[in-house]
Amino acid sequence: MITRMSTLFLRTLREDPADAEVPSHKLLVRAGYVRRVGPGVYSWLPLGLAVFRRVEQVVREEMNAIGAQEILFPALLPREPYEATNRWAEYGPALFRIKDRKGADYLLGPTHEELFTLTVKGEYASYKDYPVMLYQIQTKYRDEERPRAGILRGREFVMKDSYSFDLDDDGLADSYRKHRDAYRTIFDRVGLRYVIVAATSGAMGGSASEEFLAESETGEDTYVRSTGSDYAANVEAVVTRAPEAQSVDDKPAAEVHHTPDTPTIETLVDFLNSTGERKFTAAETLKNVLVKTRQPGSDEWSLLAVAVPGDREVDFKRVEAALEPAQVELLTEADFAANPFLVKGYIGPKALQDNKVPFLVDPRIVTGTAWVTGADKPDHHVVDLVCGRDFTPDGTIEAAEVLEGDPSPDGTGTLESARGIEVGHIFQLGRKYSDTFGLDALGQDGKPKRITMGSYGVGVSRLVAAIVEQNHDRDGLVWPREVAPADVHMVMAGKDDTVRDTAERLAAELDDAGVRVILDDRASSPGVKFADAELVGVPTILVVGKGLANGVVEVKDRRSGERTEVAVDEIVDHLR
Ligand code: ATP
Ligand code: MG
Ligand code: MG
Ligand code: MG
Repeated sequence: MITRMSTLFLRTLREDPADAEVPSHKLLVRAGYVRRVGPGVYSWLPLGLAVFRRVEQVVREEMNAIGAQEILFPALLPREPYEATNRWAEYGPALFRIKDRKGADYLLGPTHEELFTLTVKGEYASYKDYPVMLYQIQTKYRDEERPRAGILRGREFVMKDSYSFDLDDDGLADSYRKHRDAYRTIFDRVGLRYVIVAATSGAMGGSASEEFLAESETGEDTYVRSTGSDYAANVEAVVTRAPEAQSVDDKPAAEVHHTPDTPTIETLVDFLNSTGERKFTAAETLKNVLVKTRQPGSDEWSLLAVAVPGDREVDFKRVEAALEPAQVELLTEADFAANPFLVKGYIGPKALQDNKVPFLVDPRIVTGTAWVTGADKPDHHVVDLVCGRDFTPDGTIEAAEVLEGDPSPDGTGTLESARGIEVGHIFQLGRKYSDTFGLDALGQDGKPKRITMGSYGVGVSRLVAAIVEQNHDRDGLVWPREVAPADVHMVMAGKDDTVRDTAERLAAELDDAGVRVILDDRASSPGVKFADAELVGVPTILVVGKGLANGVVEVKDRRSGERTEVAVDEIVDHLR
């Protein structure tokens, strides 16, 4: 089918939209690919939908290729399954919750682990049924605090989410590896430059989770990579030991300082200054309490620093509430002595207040001297860790700044930081959901076996924008062919019948040869047509015009700008 500009539902804009800051947002709107309906809510117009469908198809093909089966869930979901996993509450304000006319609670699905687990439980019973991988390409809803950059961070967006169900850990590792390989193929095919970064710390949970980040300055994720190897990690996940940390690590537990009382900010500052290592001011210090946490069903403890302003007490009820359903216990001196700097996470005062889960930081942000109160509260160990860097007002830290130039944890070089757009995320869930819903298979020995799961997401709509971030110039979009809305954008440059007849004939022949053609058959001036062709970004621009007098047409490569003249009789073969 030939797409004709004369009838195409498309109006390009000469000006950038006022609300757009990043290139993909500006260009996708200007080129008439998407239109805003509301904050973080966009519609796809014909050219946009064509690209979206191409990307979706690549994702679908690669999922099918690893044996995943496509199904489709509704977005409108009852509350109960999400209540069972506590995500109804845990998701906080990001969850769209609605009531039906009878007053029953529903939500618009932000991700579908619960439903997939229940569905597999409903259909499968025996070990012979497993393993199985299921996926959907479906609209998700998240009431993002800051919807941003058009389709890059929407409140309604399309995700491919898949889930693997295996009988044992080896099976899960295999499903995970298959997804990892499929994701590489997907992102290679759509022409993306990307890195795979550890999303959780290797020290804490193996390679249980990795993110695929499209390299882009406009990305919201900061990652570090080693100058000497392909080690890369989200800054939130890096666990290394700084020189100071190592030196403290060497010290015996006896060096932990005991004080008679919970320190006030002043006593803390006095104490730190008395150690003579460096001078501290009150502004630099923040009291941290170390706790240990573990997820239900897990036997692995993580250490977590909970920060409070230096003059305030920590409210442990709130720490527990923020971390639910994880178990929380105060850190004992023995725990601390065993692993003084494996602080997995950090809760700032703001996060605590908002009931958010903690984010992960590099433990080297907390270097310094341990501070333990023991005498009056033997079970209450307050460990103060002093940041070498400033805390931002909400208690978070620019971890990337801390890590830049530091030694890489794999010992291969130093770390450099860069930014990226999260386009995919693969995750070994383990038995979190199968425990909640009791997903078992009857084993060969007649005993029930608990299923282990993985979940894997690709932001299909976000991927369209990420591709644009890497593929554009000042004149417009520059699509990689695999996802382009057409192969050839033919400009009829001239009004006489020869131009029209030749263009029509060539368009028909190209179409027959399987080449996807946009034909600019409008009455507009060549200047308008050329500008639109650049903006729309199809890989090859074909100009049918003056050259016909010499029997040639002009082929322009959209990306390189290179122009070549090709004989009219040869052009179909040339382009097919
Ligand atoms: P982000 O860190 O960008 O908020 P996320 O970690 O919350 O993403 P996941 O829950 O891992 O997202 O979802 C899987 C994929 O869905 C992400 O890797 C991303 O590509 C995509 N995605 C998530 N949120 C959005 C959104 N608001 N708009 C578009 N795509 C999104
Ligand atoms: Mg998110
Ligand atoms: Mg993320
Ligand atoms: Mg993610």
